[in-house]
Amino acid sequence: MTTNENDKVSRRRFLTQASLAGAGALLGSAGTGLLGTAYASEGPASVAPGQNIRSRGYAAFDNSGVLRPWEFERRPLGDDDVLIEIKYASICHSDIHQMKGDWGPQRYPQIPGHEIVGVVTAVGKNVTRFQVGDRAGVGCMVDSCLECDSCTHGEEQFCEKGGTLFTYGYPDRRSPTGITQGGYSTNIVVRDHFAVHIPDHLSFQEAAPLLCAGITTYSPIMQATLQVGDKVGVAGIGGLGHMAVMLAASKGAEVYAFTTSPGKAQDILSLGAKEVVVVDDLSKLRPHRARLDYMISTIPTQYDVAAYSSVVRPYGHFTQVGMPDAFRLTVNNLGLAVSRVNFNASLIGGIPETQEVIHYCADNGIRPRIEVIDAAGINDAWAKVVNKQARYRYVIDAATF
Ligand code: NDP
Ligand code: ZN
Repeated sequence: MTTNENDKVSRRRFLTQASLAGAGALLGSAGTGLLGTAYASEGPASVAPGQNIRSRGYAAFDNSGVLRPWEFERRPLGDDDVLIEIKYASICHSDIHQMKGDWGPQRYPQIPGHEIVGVVTAVGKNVTRFQVGDRAGVGCMVDSCLECDSCTHGEEQFCEKGGTLFTYGYPDRRSPTGITQGGYSTNIVVRDHFAVHIPDHLSFQEAAPLLCAGITTYSPIMQATLQVGDKVGVAGIGGLGHMAVMLAASKGAEVYAFTTSPGKAQDILSLGAKEVVVVDDLSKLRPHRARLDYMISTIPTQYDVAAYSSVVRPYGHFTQVGMPDAFRLTVNNLGLAVSRVNFNASLIGGIPETQEVIHYCADNGIRPRIEVIDAAGINDAWAKVVNKQARYRYVIDAATF
């Protein structure tokens, strides 16, 4: 028998074993097995141990902010990994910031996307939390040390060993492209701990934005330990902001939305806000001085933080989640000092809390407002996000990659 025929025989044997293994489709660890590349889209039985997994999606090739189709390979499925066939991925403003180099130079080609949902099509042999066929989601992280205090307390985004591996653009020795590649693609390989379950009563399309926009606003709102009737402000009503309005209102807060887009006012009221303040000029903030208990700002650019925080009462809290160029905000210290407002910033949320927000939204009828688009519409959608025209999250149908 030639090597090639040997390969075919052992591949057939493997396929039989994999199908006998049933739902678990137990797969061996990386490093041994067949040469070549598996086609993940053919289903779990076609993923062989040690083989890179073919994927295709839309990548940035430079900092122009224009994405084009790209075929690439992902790392082989490891013992602790799941392979997810992506159904939908939604567009976060962070995707645009990072691909354009707003936060620093990037390695290209790079596939963005960290609001990812799909179906598990293969699991490594140590995986117990997922089975083939499960509905699953992946957010902003794909790995961490899982041993430090933060990781063991469900805050993997703060891994104290610096081990947080973000979903795209982060150096990853295991990745054939040298960096993590995100969700604007047909599939993803991820350590099982970093995948969450999507319950059946939540559609894939509506689940996707919860993986970043949902958790990033839910986590600081929960951290603020608000009381029913507390007055909560939300600044910037885009993908994150519209989730913040719904989440805070659902917890019993009186929500005040601060928008620069008068055309969003009716929508925002229908999301549960008590009042909409159109900030076409900073002077519009003055009548609201010291009115709120808490404020969350999703504004993605440099802006006058002190002017916005002046609407929070003395000793209240103000959380910044928007991430401007170079992550830099210039703050007028006197503006913060005059009310001793507690200013903080917040980064996404941990995996257990991500699972929590998904169930919370699923069970309480909280659904992001979305528009489903084909992959060919990504560049147009990005321009609309930047121009504040998104209403309120674009969700890409992964069948069109
Ligand atoms: P969107 O573009 O969907 O929403 C941002 C909204 O901010 C806009 O819709 C607009 O709302 C308002 N806005 C935009 N520009 C200005 C401006 N110059 N002055 C005042 N308001 C403005 O973005 P996302 O919701 O997807 O993301 C928001 C920010 O949060 C981004 O910077 C993103 O990178 C960051 N982010 C941070 C995370 C974290 O962990 N901290 C996680 C995810 C995202 P309106 O029309 O109502 O004025
Ligand atoms: Zn995001």
